[in-house]
Amino acid sequence: MLSTTRETIRKSAKAIGYPVDVIEKFLRSEAEHTFEIKLGNKTFPAFRVQHNSKLGPYKGGIRFHPGVNIDEVRALATLMTLKTAAAGLPLGGGKGGVAVNVKSLTPQEIETIARQYARKLSNHLGPSIDIPAPDVNTDSRVMDWMVDELEKVTGDNHQATFTGKSIENGGSEGREPATGNGGSLALYEFLRAKKLDGKKLTVALQGFGNVGYYFARSLVNYPNLSLIAVSNSQNSWHNPEGFDIKQLPANITRPEMIPMFGNAKQLSPDNIVKTDSDILVLAALENAITADNVKTVKAKIIVELANGPISEGASEYLASKGVMVIPDILANAGGVIASYLEWRQNLAGKHWSEEEVNRKMGHILSTAIRSAIERAESEKIDLREAAIQLALIRVLGVKVTS
Ligand code: NAD
Repeated sequence: MLSTTRETIRKSAKAIGYPVDVIEKFLRSEAEHTFEIKLGNKTFPAFRVQHNSKLGPYKGGIRFHPGVNIDEVRALATLMTLKTAAAGLPLGGGKGGVAVNVKSLTPQEIETIARQYARKLSNHLGPSIDIPAPDVNTDSRVMDWMVDELEKVTGDNHQATFTGKSIENGGSEGREPATGNGGSLALYEFLRAKKLDGKKLTVALQGFGNVGYYFARSLVNYPNLSLIAVSNSQNSWHNPEGFDIKQLPANITRPEMIPMFGNAKQLSPDNIVKTDSDILVLAALENAITADNVKTVKAKIIVELANGPISEGASEYLASKGVMVIPDILANAGGVIASYLEWRQNLAGKHWSEEEVNRKMGHILSTAIRSAIERAESEKIDLREAAIQLALIRVLGVKVTS
């Protein structure tokens, strides 16, 4: 993952004209913290990589997962630098993790790990230094423990050091649906730019977790988009007439519990990729489309709400067939933008309504998408390449012509 990330950046930076030494310097992290967390007689490797702070404090999640290692964290921190810059935020990129299987732990043990993590990094975190957030297997509870521990160690009770906290502890309204809401907004801006916003289009959606669910719900704002298929890891549900989005419950529910899926044709989950729809939204896992299934894709527009849901080989094939992809770096940026807005509320001692958060998030995301579309058109490159180039130019300064 690290070498793929670095190669992608080298290619984009070279296309803009940056010299090799500038690119290589950018690829190196500004700081890396590696330490151990002790739980009884066990120890778990822990990491925080602070990749780049040119545009602002490091920003990025902390994951608890047995597969976490320094190279993965380096790659994810580098991608955060690109993501915050592509979204036009005054933030840098960082990432952290503990190599631990939370499924084997009690809530008390998870709390011990979270508190030790914050304690060990207490000199390196802060609202203007590094602002972590939840990621895989961490949530608002974990962030609340970290805020509390940091206060115990440093006396700093600044809630703005972490985002993704509980609402009672300074969290933001609208954080939970932000990535899904941002996905539909990104899609709409794209359709508008391509003059397709007035057309009736069908949508198939892979993944019905946090991101997929709120994406589906937000389609109520776009009556020209008809959701005709949905899947999770167990099943897919197809209704060519379109589901009545208004019937979706306000809070996340498993699809098999939703009555409107009862009348739909139920198939295996892999059928979703083959759905005869105009738009395919990938909101489940990485590598959902690979060389094995790419030839079955019928949609002409793909929205990457998951991170890295299309393999590199599959991307090339889709491009050769004229399939347009709204890349993860833009499509799922609603989450990090909501985190940024939480940080701003904490700094200002304010608590905005969900409408206010959505409005501000919408403005930031629409601006980012429009800039990327403009660059893609003027440079005749795809949207992913355009977003990466814009991010690099924001971090490294004006293009250097060779
Ligand atoms: P989640 O665990 O809540 O939901 C994942 C969904 O994918 C579930 O419905 C699951 O059943 C489904 N799924 C798993 N395997 C599948 C398969 N083979 N076929 C179809 N569906 C399958 O996770 P989430 O928070 O919704 O995140 C989804 C993706 O979005 C991840 O890649 C995540 O990294 C990315 N992402 C999430 C956020 C966020 O704010 N939660 C932000 C940016 C990116």
